[in-house]
Amino acid sequence: MQIIVSGAAGFIGSHLVERLLAEGHSVIGLDNLITGSTRNLVHLEGNPRFRFIVHDVTQPFESGAEIDAVLHLASLASPKDYLAHPIETLEVGSAGTRNMVELARRHGARFLLASTSECYGDPLVHPQTEEYWGNVNPVGMRSCYDESKRYAEAITMAYHRVHGVRTNIVRIFNTYGPRMQLHDGRVVPAFIDQALRGVPLTVYGDGSQTRSFCYVSDLVEGLCRLMLSDERFPVNLGNPAEMTILQFAQAVQKVAGSNLPIRHEVLPEDDPKRRRPDITKAKRILGWEPRVPLEEGLRKTWEYFRDLQSE
Ligand code: UDP
Repeated sequence: MQIIVSGAAGFIGSHLVERLLAEGHSVIGLDNLITGSTRNLVHLEGNPRFRFIVHDVTQPFESGAEIDAVLHLASLASPKDYLAHPIETLEVGSAGTRNMVELARRHGARFLLASTSECYGDPLVHPQTEEYWGNVNPVGMRSCYDESKRYAEAITMAYHRVHGVRTNIVRIFNTYGPRMQLHDGRVVPAFIDQALRGVPLTVYGDGSQTRSFCYVSDLVEGLCRLMLSDERFPVNLGNPAEMTILQFAQAVQKVAGSNLPIRHEVLPEDDPKRRRPDITKAKRILGWEPRVPLEEGLRKTWEYFRDLQSE
C-alpha cells in the first residue's frame, strides 16, 4: 500500500512508519516538527519507499500520488506540550483531522484516527470500555486536547456516514518506549531522566492515581491490525496492567538499581485519578493483546535514554 502517516516524526508515528516499511509498504510521512524530530527518522533515510515532507496538516495536503491509507497521528500529545500550545492542539485535532480525512475521501483511501483515552476524561467508569462517553471538563486545562480529539472522532464518523470512507478510530492509552521526548513532562521520560541523573523522582500528588503503560511495539501491532479491520467505532489499545504512579516509581527504581528518593509535587489540574483500558473489544475483533512486560519495556526505554544522555 501507499500510506500517508501524519505525525511521522513523533514517538509513535516513527515506530509505525518503521513497521509499515518493514512490511513492504510505501510511506509518505508528514510532520510540522512542533514536537516531532527528524532525528526519529534518520535511520530510514535512503529508503526508496519512504519520503518525508515537513507539512502542517492544519493546511490542506495533496500528494499527487495514489494513496491507499491515511493514518492520522499528528498531534501534540503530552500534557506539558498541549498546555503550552492549546490553540495548535485544537487546530490539529479539528482542521488537521478534517484535512486528513478529506484527503482519504478524495483518494478512496482508508483512514485511521489516532484518538486517545483522554476522551474518557477523569472517568467515572472503570476500567474504560469504548461504550463509556466520558467525563470531560470542556473548559478545563486539558480540554484543548480532550475536546479536539472528541471532535476528531465525530468528524471521522461523519465522513464514514456521509461519504462512506472506511474509517477506524483507535483510543490510545499511555504508551511508552524509545523516542519519547526527554523533556515532554510525561511520567515515563521524567522518572527515567531523574533516575539517570540520580535526583529525586517527582511524584505529583500522593501518587495514588493510576495509569496503565503499554510498550510501543505492542501498540504498533494493534494499529496495524486495526487499520485493516472493518470496525468503524472506537477501539481501545493499551495495556490493562494498572498501577499507581508510586508503584511505577518503584519499577523505575528497580531498573535504575537504586532507591532514589521520591519528592511529592502538586497534582496538576484535572489529572485523571484512574485509567485502565478494557481491551475486550481489541482482543475479540483484532486478536490483539500486549505482550511486552513492563520490566522489559522499561529496560529498553532506559537504555535509549541512557545512550541519548551519553552522546
Ligand atoms: N506524573 C508524576 N510525575 C511526573 C510526571 C507525571 O507523578 O514527573 C503523573 C501525572 O500527574 C499523571 C501520571 O503521572 O497522574 C501520568 O502523567 P503523564 O503526563 O505521563 O500522562 P497522562 O496520563 O496524565 O496524560
